[in-house]
Formats: sequence, structure tokens, C-alpha cells
Amino acid sequence: MTTATEPRTFDSLDPATGAVVGTHVIADAAAVAAAVAAGGEAARWWAELGFAERRRRLLDYKAVLTRNLRQVADTIHQETGKPVGDALLETVLAITHLDWAARNARSVLGPRRVFPGLIGLNMAATLEYLPLGVIGVIGPWNYPVFTPMGSIAYALAAGNAVVFKPSELTPGVGVLLAELFAESVPERPVFQVVTGLGETGAALAAHPGVGKIAFTGSTATAKRVMAACAQNLTPIVAECGGKDALIVDRDADLPAAADAALWGACSNAGQTCVGVERVYVVDEVYDAFLRELTTRAADIRAGKDYGPITMPAQLDVIRRHVDDAVARGRAVVGGVESVRPPYVDPVIVTDVPEDSPAVQEETFGPTITVDRVADVGEALRRANATAYGLGATVFSGNRRRAMDLARRLRSGMTAINSVISFAAIASLPFGGVGGSGFGRIHGADGLREFARPKAIARQRFAMPGMRITSFRRTPAELERLIRLVTFLHGRRKK
Ligand code: NDP
Repeated sequence: MTTATEPRTFDSLDPATGAVVGTHVIADAAAVAAAVAAGGEAARWWAELGFAERRRRLLDYKAVLTRNLRQVADTIHQETGKPVGDALLETVLAITHLDWAARNARSVLGPRRVFPGLIGLNMAATLEYLPLGVIGVIGPWNYPVFTPMGSIAYALAAGNAVVFKPSELTPGVGVLLAELFAESVPERPVFQVVTGLGETGAALAAHPGVGKIAFTGSTATAKRVMAACAQNLTPIVAECGGKDALIVDRDADLPAAADAALWGACSNAGQTCVGVERVYVVDEVYDAFLRELTTRAADIRAGKDYGPITMPAQLDVIRRHVDDAVARGRAVVGGVESVRPPYVDPVIVTDVPEDSPAVQEETFGPTITVDRVADVGEALRRANATAYGLGATVFSGNRRRAMDLARRLRSGMTAINSVISFAAIASLPFGGVGGSGFGRIHGADGLREFARPKAIARQRFAMPGMRITSFRRTPAELERLIRLVTFLHGRRKK
């Protein structure tokens, strides 16, 4: 018999079979509060360790993760259904980010002298970035190691403690990540996991002891999380998915572009925030590109090349988008019959109206729309015409044109002649604009996201005859200041 004191639990399931792979506690608001309180204590200890010791501990954690690569990948495989090879790949990428964050935290965040300006020559100006305390990480299920680690590694390297709420679909992965961390940092609960459903995440977002929330998931939930954070003025970094476009220029390497479009759209069953969902192809090469794409797609099957749809409710979204796109456009690969739960085979549809859900809303399935455009200008205009702005891809034989397009695409990241490559480069920031969210994980910006700048101005000596910030200032001293400013800043450049 269940008593009031026994915690409620939930099961995590294998999405391919429905089998129970684990049972986890539903952390209630009190449990979340306890974790945040313990995290606050741990954060002070962790911050005191300093950059060098934290680096040593995080590199040790990296080694522990690497030695347990197969166990981590197996757990991802069980909870998401993705092939073990893909699970290994995502864990390897997470390890490279952990390595980069550990090695670069001091140079990005540590104290540095900055030039105080000519008027402040008697001052020493120091800038450094201090940790925020406890970071609440609310993670998704599609890349349950790679995506949250983009926040966790950078937050820890910056000197914060972390309380991680994994998606209810992948709690076992979250628990394992924290258990392995404790091998490298056994003394204090610097990295904790609270498992549960949406309410557990809501309790974390609403807790006043949290220094910042790093959220990955849907735009709708990000808004709810922001509203909860607003009560305590808790800042948030939000990564909310996208509707990424791939542009094929007239001189692009078409086999490479087709290969990238297909993999970008269908790998991980299309459940990738920076997955390719739309393709715009310049008229001259449209037919040749479509031939390359459809030929390659003919061999690709769900269950063989990629796994099932992890979240059952997503099947309804995919079906709605495919039904509408097929009815209003022309299916060239697959169709409504491709949705065969829990699997979805590749679906490629052309001539889909721009206002259809398959063009405007995140599908999160192995589907793409392909459209003919007059030139890259039209491709750019249509690529930029959704509320989202996360990633984008350009295939072009002309470097200048490709760089120009990359800059003008309304996205946080753009890959040229490759797909999703920016996510694997730890020194590049990752995040979106518009409906895709704001703030950045990864790279130097990702480290600064989990820190607050601290400015220190130390007077080295009193500037003779320049008592500017004193009631004893004389008119002559003010006059001297005006003469100096006029000399330094008063001349107009020809
Ligand atoms: P959600 O945005 O609902 O969930 C993301 C995370 O937020 C999960 O950990 C979830 O917990 C948690 N959460 C849910 N409600 C709250 C709340 N009120 N306060 C705080 N945290 C909360 O996404 P779904 O998993 O339901 O997926 C829905 C859609 O989101 C997908 O179809 C896809 O389009 C998009 N998505 C985008 C991702 C990306 O990479 N940007 C990743 C995942 C999804 P719990 O799982 O326990 O509900």
C-alpha cells in the first residue's frame, strides 16, 4: 500500500517496444528545493576550488565518461530508441565539449587587466567572470547527453553547481551522467539530477535559489519557464528548436548536397533541433538535385538506418504535417503511409505552399519539403520567412556567395558545404534567434552565459591636479579636464 511519505514514481520506456527500462522518482517541489539548497552549498565549495582544480576534476570526469562510453550509449539507445552508433556519436561530441569547457574556462573567465582609457591612466581596471551559483538545466530527450552537456559542462567549468531535470523520456541517462560525475567529484553534490515530469521542471524554474535556467525544448514550454523565472528575475537561456533550411546554389556539389540534406533531415528520425526541414534549390540544378536526393532516399528505412519516434505524441504532429503537405504538394518519396508507429520512413514532398505547417512549424520527423527557386536571393527570402532562426545550411561552389548567404540567413549558426557541423565545433557558440530562443551554449559565449561579469577599478595613485570626484574640485581642475577631453576627443576626422 502506498503511504503519503513514499515518493511517487514513473517509468521510462523503450519507444520501439514499449518495455519498461527503468523506474524513477518524481521529485516534488520539496525535493527540488532540497537539491537547490544542497547545490548552493556545493557551489560555494566548487567555486573556491578555482579554475585549475576544477579543470582537473572536469578532465577526470571526461575520462570517466569516455571509459563508460558504451554504457552511456546503451542507456541512450534504450530510452530513445536511436541506434547505438548514433548514441555513441552524440556522447563523443559531448565529451569534446566537456574537454573544451574545462580547458578554456580560465582564459575566457579568469581575471584580466583591461585598458582604463587615457583619462583613467591612474587606475588599474580588472575584469573577471564569477559563477552564478546553482544552474537549473531542463533537458530534452532527442540528444539526452549532447544537448544538456552543452549547458552542464560550461556551467560547471564556470564554477557553478548544476541541478539537472532530464526529460521524463530519458531520466536514466540523466541519472547515469550524475553518478559518473560523482566518481570525479565525490565530496559535494556539485552535479545533481532531479527526475520527474513537467511539474518537477516547473518547480526548478520557480525556485528563488536558482541562478539561471538553461532550457532546451519547445517554444511553448520555454514561455512557461520564462514566466516562472520572471517571479524571481531568474535569467534564462532558451534553445527551442527550429525549421532549418538548406539552400542549394547553382554551382553546388549536388551529390554532396543531396547526401547532406538526407542525413540532416532523417538522422535521429529527424528529431534534431538543427535538422534540415526545408530545402530551396536554384532552378538550373533543381531537377538534377531532386534525382540525387530521391535516389539516395529510396534505400533509407526507419528501423534500419534510424530509430523510432521517441515521443509518441510527436507522431500526431508528423502525421498532420505530412497529410497536409501531401494533399497540397507532390510526394516524391514516401507519403501518408510512411507514418507507421512508432516508425516513420523518409518523406520528401515538393511544391508545398509556404503557409503549410510542413513549411512553417517544427515537424521533428524524417521529412523534408523541397522547392524550386529562381536564384539564391529568393532562397534566402523564403529561408528567412519563418518565426524560427536556429541553424541553416548552404551548398555552393562559390565561397564569397556562400559566406554572404551565411551572414544574411536569419539563424544563429550556418554550415557551408557540410551539415550541422557547427554543433561539433566546441569553440563556436550555439543558439538561435526569434522563436528558436536566445542566449548561447558552447564556446566562450557559452562559458560567459553561466557567469556574471565583475568589474574592479583600483586607483594606483591620485592624479595630481585632477580631483574630479571630490567636493574639493576647483574650477581650474574642471577646466584642465575639459582641455584634455577636447584634445583627446574634440577633433573631427576628415
Ligand atoms: P517540452 O518543451 O515540453 O519539454 C522540454 C523539457 O521541459 C522537458 O524536460 C520537460 O519535462 C520540461 N518541462 C515541461 N513542462 C515544463 C514546465 N512547465 N516547466 C519546466 N519544465 C517543463 O518538449 P517535449 O519534450 O514535450 O517536446 C515537444 C516539442 O518540443 C517537440 O515536438 C519538438 O518540436 C520540440 N523539442 C525541441 C527540442 C530541441 O532540441 N530544441 C528538444 C525536444 C523537443 P518532461 O519531459 O518531464 O515533460
